[in-house]
Amino acid sequence: KIYYDSDANLGLLDGKTIVFLGFGNQGAAQAQNLRDSGISNERIIVANRRDSYAEDAISKGFTVEHDFAKAAAQADVIFLLVPDQVQPRLFNTEVAPNLKDNTAIVVASGYNVFFKLLNFKPSQDVVMVAPRMIGSSVRSLFVKGKGFPCFVSSEQDGTGKALEIALALSRVIGATKAGAIASSAREETAMDLFAEQGLWPNIIMLFREAFSVLKEAGCSDEALCYEMWMSKEPAEIFERAAEDGFIQQLKHHSTVSQYGQLNGALSLDGAGAREHFKHILYNQVLNGKFQQEFSKIEDDLEKEGDANPLNILYKRSEESELGQAEKRVRARLAGLL
Ligand code: NDP
Repeated sequence: KIYYDSDANLGLLDGKTIVFLGFGNQGAAQAQNLRDSGISNERIIVANRRDSYAEDAISKGFTVEHDFAKAAAQADVIFLLVPDQVQPRLFNTEVAPNLKDNTAIVVASGYNVFFKLLNFKPSQDVVMVAPRMIGSSVRSLFVKGKGFPCFVSSEQDGTGKALEIALALSRVIGATKAGAIASSAREETAMDLFAEQGLWPNIIMLFREAFSVLKEAGCSDEALCYEMWMSKEPAEIFERAAEDGFIQQLKHHSTVSQYGQLNGALSLDGAGAREHFKHILYNQVLNGKFQQEFSKIEDDLEKEGDANPLNILYKRSEESELGQAEKRVRARLAGLL
């Protein structure tokens, strides 16, 4: 189901105090869109620590509260727009104990709701309004009078009006203009984590291995880097796929290319990949295995140097033939790129 502006009852937001927890990527964009949709500035509070994000909110004319507990106590609606890994600790300790029994809680990602990491009261509404765009696009498309793709769902219907609240909020942040897609925290989390842990790792692996095979066959670093991604051809292909269709975009390629790609893809047996993908989806994503493992290293992601596991992963990835070659090419072409 797709919801449009006409499905939203804005009257539900009358007189409500709306708190944005976080004024980063999504927080800054959604708060501005909501205000520009006619929600009174006096009814909007940005809750943020004292730093550049808070200063940015103040410079844009928002009321900023640095005490999360105080902000939470005033909220009829609260948008949780701090990073996913920060939400459980911040919400459960400083926010949840101070919320009203009927506050509507809005998440922009299904992760913490699906894995039940946030402590809600049964009387509260919990909704997901999850833009499929980075914050700057959420804002720029709204300013241009355009919509943006967004998933919407009611995850807990404490008041009996959770979905209606979700639709009203989707409309004021600009998400129902082009149609907001009915979804769920489960669906959003499954697709997001699957893409991150199943699809894209395979694409990275395919590029890495293709690079090595072509290098072995005598192709130069420069030619390979440009041929494979620095020319931005893959970016263009995906842009065309979004505009013309996943298969139809092939018609922009040469006949030799169209024949090679279509024939090649049809002759590949996807059975191995399908088994691998199922394993990732069921035994790593949906069963919570990844979430449990990630929660053990979350705190280390704030550390410097080799104490941060992400830095180690970057180092190992950059040691690949592709990583090393690209470093050389970029150093050589520094002035031209
Ligand atoms: P950002 O990383 O941009 O959020 C930064 C905000 O969170 C700042 O206000 C920052 O304030 C605050 N913050 C960070 N750490 C803490 C902390 N420890 N305690 C208190 N405040 C903190 O987040 P996003 O906007 O990227 O993500 C917000 C939500 O939106 C997430 O659920 C994400 O999954 C979802 N989402 C994000 C998209 C994106 O494009 N990034 C797309 C769609 C959904 P401070 O300066 O004090 O650190």
